[in-house]
Amino acid sequence: MKGWLICAAKTRTGGNKMDPFGRQIDYLRISVTDRCNERCLYCMPEGYKGWESNPDHLTAEEIIRVARVAAGLGFRKFRLTGGEPLVRGDLPDIARAMAKIPGVESVGLSTNGLRLAALAQPLRAAGLRTVNVSLDALDPQIYRRITGGDVAKVLAGIQAAIVAEFERVKLNCVLMRGVNETELWPLVLFAAEHGLPLRFIELMPLTSTEVLTEKNFLPCGEAMQSLAQRDELVPQPDRKLGHGPAKYYLLKQTGALVGFIGALTNEHFCEQCNKMRLTADGKVRPCLGNHIEVDLRAALRHGADDGALKELLETALRLKPLEHQFRTNYQPCRPMTAIGG
Ligand code: SAM
Ligand code: SF4
Repeated sequence: MKGWLICAAKTRTGGNKMDPFGRQIDYLRISVTDRCNERCLYCMPEGYKGWESNPDHLTAEEIIRVARVAAGLGFRKFRLTGGEPLVRGDLPDIARAMAKIPGVESVGLSTNGLRLAALAQPLRAAGLRTVNVSLDALDPQIYRRITGGDVAKVLAGIQAAIVAEFERVKLNCVLMRGVNETELWPLVLFAAEHGLPLRFIELMPLTSTEVLTEKNFLPCGEAMQSLAQRDELVPQPDRKLGHGPAKYYLLKQTGALVGFIGALTNEHFCEQCNKMRLTADGKVRPCLGNHIEVDLRAALRHGADDGALKELLETALRLKPLEHQFRTNYQPCRPMTAIGG
């Protein structure tokens, strides 16, 4: 109730990209596909068969149109994600068109890196500015156990992204007790050696509740304690790298810049939230950890004009909840790959 009162106040002052709680929402993460060439333990449940059919995916034109309308509404930062965005053949075309939209300040990419070696240069040339690469382990066996993929290809992709001179290349590692705990320090050394920020992400119950158990959940606090045994973590409260919710620390000896994304243990996690998501099948999702969605695809395919699309985006903004429901028995019903990580 309180939130809706705040909403009314914000509307009166004309901030149409404010959500009901006064947060400025100017970041849209777009899942361009729910398909993926890896099978990460925490993301793609074994035997998963709930793929969207191809016609259900937004076309490149539809994605670009939504981005244009969102930019008109005040969205400034965009990220192409999935699923694995690099399995979509028209990704460079989407990136190129989005980078040219007036008002768009930055288009980034989140990828598992498997195909990045070949695509880094064309995507940079197309106007992508930043890239986040998932890297849960350096050890080839551990990496394969988590993702099913080949870490050598990912490392080649990271190297290609550095050579292609993306403005920022960040590494993401999902924390899993008993699975990649031994990889945290090697990843820090790798990040320091290459001068790349590294973020550790707490497991979230995104695709199935089984991924998040007491046994395999490794809180950010514990990961920090473990790193603190080897190096001093100096808080960087003013460090903002990109548009995400990470809290950064500089490791004094190694020089690594390490961020922690504690969606479950950080009680203030949602306070600075600045984003919404567009799912692979064209739903606007105001919060990753809440099932509210607003259907844009139906509107797109039934002749809606830009004004109607803008209204739907504004509706999604108004429906953005105060915080995610991951701590209150959230039951996933759509895979992370479709929603967009
Ligand atoms: N395929 C790309 C990748 O792996 O980076 C982009 C999509 S992926 C869904 C985006 C991010 O979500 C990755 O960093 C991934 O590790 C993270 N992710 C997926 N499932 C997760 C989960 N259950 N908990 C926490 N992070 C998760
Ligand atoms: Fe694919 Fe990324 Fe999910 Fe792994 S985290 S299964 S790479 S979409």
